[in-house]
Amino acid sequence: VHEAAEKIQVDPEVLEAILAWSIQPIFEAFSRALSGETDFSSWHSGRCPVCGGPSRLEFIDEEGHSHLKCQFCGAEWSYPEGKCPYCGNEESESIIEIPVKGEDKFRLMACYKCGGYWKIVDERKVGTNIPRSLYDIWSFKLDLLASGQK
Ligand SMILES: [Zn+2]
Ligand SMILES: [Zn+2]
Repeated sequence: VHEAAEKIQVDPEVLEAILAWSIQPIFEAFSRALSGETDFSSWHSGRCPVCGGPSRLEFIDEEGHSHLKCQFCGAEWSYPEGKCPYCGNEESESIIEIPVKGEDKFRLMACYKCGGYWKIVDERKVGTNIPRSLYDIWSFKLDLLASGQK
């Protein structure tokens, strides 16, 4: 990609974003097809079972079960609450919630072991009117906050 970008004088990052954006529907369709017949309940990784991408988006359903959602292809799979999706760290001492002023819908979590952060959308608080595919954009404020913290 970088080489191609140099040839046509485009910012490589812009080009990568365009590429990701253009193949995303393919992954989404793939994920939808898979989740219809594939049971992800035996999947315990923080990485997406469909596209292998990392996820920093967790949601808790109305029954209080915690899941990860892939921001790239939209796959959802259950994942223990309070466990770092990047390194699998489960020690409560090194996983902290970063307080977000005036924010009661979402929670921002950080892992001191690997330095990663992730967001939690709690459907017991926000309800289920907003499609899950929008959670990432909806909680974008937390990404801004987290990147400002580093
Ligand atoms: Zn995925
Ligand atoms: Zn971690």
